[in-house]
Amino acid sequence: MTVRTRADLDQLPAYVAGRTVPGSIKLASNEVSGGPLPSVVEAIGQAATEVHRYPDMGTTKLTEALASRLHVAPERIAVGCGSVSLCEQLVLATCTAEDEVVFPWRSFEAYPIITRVAGARQVPVPLTGDHALDLDAMAAAVTPATRLMFVCTPNNPTGTLLRRAELDAFLDRIPSDVLVVLDEAYWEFVTDPDAPDGVEIARNRDNVASMRTFSKAYGLAGLRVGYAVAPEHVAAALRKVCIPFSVNAIAQVAALASLEAQDELKARCDSVVAERVRVRDALLELGYEVPETQANFVWLPLGDRTQAFNEHCLENRVVVRAFVGDGARVTIGLPEENDAFLAAARTFQQ
Ligand SMILES: *Cc1c(COP(=O)(O)O)cnc(C)c1O
Repeated sequence: MTVRTRADLDQLPAYVAGRTVPGSIKLASNEVSGGPLPSVVEAIGQAATEVHRYPDMGTTKLTEALASRLHVAPERIAVGCGSVSLCEQLVLATCTAEDEVVFPWRSFEAYPIITRVAGARQVPVPLTGDHALDLDAMAAAVTPATRLMFVCTPNNPTGTLLRRAELDAFLDRIPSDVLVVLDEAYWEFVTDPDAPDGVEIARNRDNVASMRTFSKAYGLAGLRVGYAVAPEHVAAALRKVCIPFSVNAIAQVAALASLEAQDELKARCDSVVAERVRVRDALLELGYEVPETQANFVWLPLGDRTQAFNEHCLENRVVVRAFVGDGARVTIGLPEENDAFLAAARTFQQ
């Protein structure tokens, strides 16, 4: 006899991380190329001398700093080991076996995986022809079994943003016992004045949570820390299903220091946004279709040509994130990295 694992896991796709190819430029994981914010590196160094102690399980200082910045009670905040961990905690906190999780598709790769791992049922809702979330279809997908909805804005991997008015109209249609999670992993890169502020919405609606991360704009992907602003009893449930001590001590110190480095963050985001505009304009000029993007990446809906495009980029030492048959997502890097990518895009036989 052999040890038995869950049979339902056999059908589960593994999460595919962006590849790191030595000697190549990695534009595959939506990381910022500039590194952590400079003042944060120093704080991380200091925190290293304390790692023989367990981290603060309640992430007290970080929670309090977030609460005061975001004007919410600390009881409404849950810190997680990356927002991907919070995604799973959200499913665990709201769903049992017969319950449903509605999410857009294509969207963040983790949604279907964590939903299945947590044992709930997935209800993916296709995007519109313009690569945006189809809010009408998502609202229509709600059934009495729906407990949770992920709304990713800007959407990964297509970059499209929901506007405040359409999001409000959508939220008005969702039953009050369904939790709507606004996944705002790219919030710091958003420049559209009509963009919703998920934290503000979470403050005013009893069934909405906002989820943000230190992995993207703050440049702390390797440390794994994110947070949710949720209704108080949901935040409490998230803390219950959290693996004890999973938010490590260095991550807590680094996140706290990052909040203090808003000027450095702003300079970082401004240069990413300027490069985003430059890269998208250049791609449009070359004849590519590129949906409007409010994140730190562009989406090229290349369909059947995605695999060939991916290989062409790899030959030119640029690693992009290909979703075969669908499209390629390309992270905005430093200007010289973007130039290398644009050179590859220029020589691809479209
Ligand atoms: C990157 C990403 C996350 C996960 O970020 P971590 O905090 O590193 O786990 C969550 N949601 C979306 C949409 C992302 O793109």
